[in-house]
Amino acid sequence: MSFQSFIPPQRTLMGPGPSDVSPRVLNALSRPTVGHLDPTFIGMMDEVKQLLQYAFQTENKFTIALSAPGSAGMEACFVNLVEPQDTVIVCRNGVFGQRMLENVNRLGAKAVVVDSPWGRAVEIEKVEAALKAHPEAKFVAFVHAETSTGAVSDAKALCALAKAHNCLTIVDAVTSLGGIELKVDEWQIDAIYSGSQKCLSCVPGLSPISFSGNALKVIESRSSAIPSWFLDQSLVVNYWSGEGKRAYHHTAPVNSLYALHESLVMLHSEGIENSWQRHRDMHKKLALGLAELGLAFIVPENERLPQLNTVKIPDGVDDAQVRNYLLEQYNLEIGAGLGDFAGKAWRIGLMGYAARNENVALCLAALKDALAKFTK
Ligand SMILES: *Cc1c(COP(=O)(O)O)cnc(C)c1O
Repeated sequence: MSFQSFIPPQRTLMGPGPSDVSPRVLNALSRPTVGHLDPTFIGMMDEVKQLLQYAFQTENKFTIALSAPGSAGMEACFVNLVEPQDTVIVCRNGVFGQRMLENVNRLGAKAVVVDSPWGRAVEIEKVEAALKAHPEAKFVAFVHAETSTGAVSDAKALCALAKAHNCLTIVDAVTSLGGIELKVDEWQIDAIYSGSQKCLSCVPGLSPISFSGNALKVIESRSSAIPSWFLDQSLVVNYWSGEGKRAYHHTAPVNSLYALHESLVMLHSEGIENSWQRHRDMHKKLALGLAELGLAFIVPENERLPQLNTVKIPDGVDDAQVRNYLLEQYNLEIGAGLGDFAGKAWRIGLMGYAARNENVALCLAALKDALAKFTK
């Protein structure tokens, strides 16, 4: 047997993630690997923390990138904060809310599930009713940007409601960070996690997280040990602390962190508000073009995510046939429907570096061609 190097095709990624990675970020990835305790690398890690504070709009000292994907960021929030005696209000309006619930269940804590329809925002009144019915609740957990459906929830209002009932908030910002307005301090979010490969347009495998002072207090006053060694943030904090006494915890993914640093430098120089605006602008262009092609959005207009556009697959059009054609003829990847929407919807991502005129034009032209060819 002989094996050759793997040379991937040059795709355009317009699905639910990973998103297109900019050449600048890929370039950063290929720079020479240094030791993970090298003073230059430690300096770069400190900048990553500052840049993440900017991206999250927070002054939380505990703001780092976990060496693992977004799913690990989710798990880190739950295992560090939630104990078996706690009650957690879990908002579920798609796949990722369901995963939050599974985290709570596995920790042996009590979950109160608030269901909202797929393709819609979390319904605030239902959350309020659950909070009134469960005064013992300690946390409210919800997904800001549900990538499985393309719906955005009102994070500001949900956090205000949680605070009014003395609850801490656990927020999934995997798809929202960098793509839509997100203000951790102003909205009083206590624990938040994201992913490198969505609107930050970095390579997959890292999870930015941030904990408020109140979240850290909850962790310090736990009555039981954190049931995960790797995700125990009280150990990780010594690895990311800037006081020159960095202790070995695990080997950081050195080159991936170069890539994250570069993508955050790009976000900082663009300006976070400008990035949010760019996602809105590109979404508007895409939405106009999709309407001309007769494709209808699933999510009502005021609940739509600009960076993840879910459209109904027209009757008589074969889902896989179209997606395969886009991939083979245009090197273009769009997302299939997930869960309740499998076979019924496409998910078109405009995340980070993919939120550009070039991508919108390519996607609309390719879809026009594919629909003309495959509509029965
Ligand atoms: C992608 C995604 C995740 C999981 O991130 P991974 O990096 O794939 O583990 C979690 N939540 C949401 C909303 C996502 O879109």
